[in-house]
Amino acid sequence: MERCDYMSDQPLVRYSKVSKSFGDLKVLKELDLAIKHREKVALIGPSGSGKTTIIRMLMTLEQPTSGVIELEGEPLWHKEVDGKLIEADEKHLRKMRSDIGMVFQHFNLFPHMTILRNVTEAPIRVQGLSKEEAEARAIDMLEKVGLGDKLNAYPAQLSGGQQQRVAIARAVVMRPKVMLFDEVTSALDPELVGEVLQVIKDLAEETDMAMILVTHEMDFARDVADRIVFLHDGQIEEEGAPQEVLGNPKSERLQTFLGRFM
Ligand code: ADP
Repeated sequence: MERCDYMSDQPLVRYSKVSKSFGDLKVLKELDLAIKHREKVALIGPSGSGKTTIIRMLMTLEQPTSGVIELEGEPLWHKEVDGKLIEADEKHLRKMRSDIGMVFQHFNLFPHMTILRNVTEAPIRVQGLSKEEAEARAIDMLEKVGLGDKLNAYPAQLSGGQQQRVAIARAVVMRPKVMLFDEVTSALDPELVGEVLQVIKDLAEETDMAMILVTHEMDFARDVADRIVFLHDGQIEEEGAPQEVLGNPKSERLQTFLGRFM
């Protein structure tokens, strides 16, 4: 069944004319954006251009003001009843959310739980896995992010980079179809950034999950992304393959933006 998903032309995620306002502030303006199965997309752009809002709406943390977001053709914020779209209820949102994982700037691990329990908690409580199954999966994930020797440690005993790697393991262990990364290194000391980016790069290479990454790390975006989307003022200003967008930017705004990283 899963194989068919990859072969179909239907995108995994589609934003159609999605707008979002906070009061009088129009943050996103009729955004159209489709993400394919397996695709890794980096969102770049100045602070305030709407990058975080795009992924928070997919994580069901912010509701679009208008427009439709779909996951494999099924509306996220709406439910189809008698051919009409009505606002989704919490049950529908919860079901849709199970296919989406997110890692935040601040990792927010449960401080009173061991690293292993931080990662097994949701598979047991939300997915109904047995403790043994959840632990096997969690240990495998923690080994992948280089923390197989920290299973019984507590978050406070770990560096920020290690904690963020636990947060990544905690999201990926749920086997979502799409992973969202929101500036996951911006709260870290500079010397810890590399190890977290490396874990994400490795995951990107090994996994079938699609990824949407909000980042200010241009080298990372170039390495990990199939496509880079540059946002300006709530709209897509330019997009394309990393070497095109970063190496041969067409819009003046993108040129100015990239100039800051030189
Ligand atoms: P980016 O990720 O590109 O920096 P954001 O999506 O975080 O941009 O924010 C876009 C704009 O929306 C910013 O001006 C921000 O202050 C505003 N904003 C984001 N979330 C809220 C909120 N919950 N309430 C009010 N304004 C918000």
